[in-house]
This record gives sequence, C-alpha cells and structure tokens, in this order.
Amino acid sequence: MTEHAHHAHHHAPAGQGDIEATLDRAAATCLARGAQLTALRRQVLRLVLDSAQPIGAYALLDRLKGERRGAAPPTVYRALDFLIEQGLIHKIERLNAFVGCAEEPGHGHTHAHPHPHQFLICGRCGSTAEVCDDAVAGAVAGAAARLGFQVHRTTVEVEGICAHCRDAQTTHG
Ligand SMILES: [Zn+2]
Ligand SMILES: [Zn+2]
Repeated sequence: MTEHAHHAHHHAPAGQGDIEATLDRAAATCLARGAQLTALRRQVLRLVLDSAQPIGAYALLDRLKGERRGAAPPTVYRALDFLIEQGLIHKIERLNAFVGCAEEPGHGHTHAHPHPHQFLICGRCGSTAEVCDDAVAGAVAGAAARLGFQVHRTTVEVEGICAHCRDAQTTHG
C-alpha cells in the first residue's frame, strides 16, 4: 500500500477479512431486496473494493481475466450496473472509474437506489472521499424544482487537493 492510499479512509484497501465481511453484508442486503449478488458480481465488487484508487472498467476486466478466462466487457459492465443500482459502488464520471460506497451496504434502505453523494477528488494523489451531505443534495433538488426541471441523476464531483497532500506540501515547503 502506498503512503497516499492511507488517508482515503474508506477507499483504502481493507484487509482480506474485512473485504469478505463487507461482501457478505452486501450479499445479505441484495437478498433482502430480492436481488442476487452472484459469484461474478461479488468478484467484481471485491476487485473494486480491493483497489486503492478508483478503478476503470478495463482495468477491472484485466484483473477479472486473471480469475475468469473469457470475461468480456459486457460481462463487466452488466455487473457494474447492478452494483451501482444496488448502491454498493459509485461511478466517478470525472475519472470514468468506480469506487466502493463508503456507507455500510444497505445503510437503512430496503429498496435499492443510488443515494445522493458527493465526491472530493484529489488532483495530486488521485484519492477520492465520498461525502453524503443531504444539504447539498437538497439544494440541487430545490434549485431544479424552482425551474420545473425533473432530475434523473445528480453528480457532484469536486476537484482539489486533499488534506494529506496539503500537509505534505506545508511540511516540505
Ligand atoms: Zn455511497
Ligand atoms: Zn491527495
């Protein structure tokens, strides 16, 4: 693990045991919703959670091919769509890459739906932090409603320098 991966709290690679426990909870959450975390979906979710940085579909495919020969892009995209729909991972549009959700699987929702979230993306180390601020989501929804605009999807991605990199900056001049 690189030094940089540390501060990206929830997106840093967890120990294998932690990941298995997370995968088990994810499977239980899906089951409670009448959906199934199949072996393939679980494998893709593990690869996303295993990655210290947001990971792209083709990098995922490469890693998946190590475990499943013959894995093709549609296989990966379908699994990713499912995981996004279940709120287990998010796509960071700016990076065209995927990260595991920082929230506990399910986090109180019995119905699968991607929850409002915002991402802070560090331009120096590439780490991302997920924040779920209802005030931000509410402000966007309110502004849209005032214009009579029907929202289908909201993406809030903030680029900047993370606290860790800023600290390093101050220390080293
Ligand atoms: Zn999330
Ligand atoms: Zn950083």
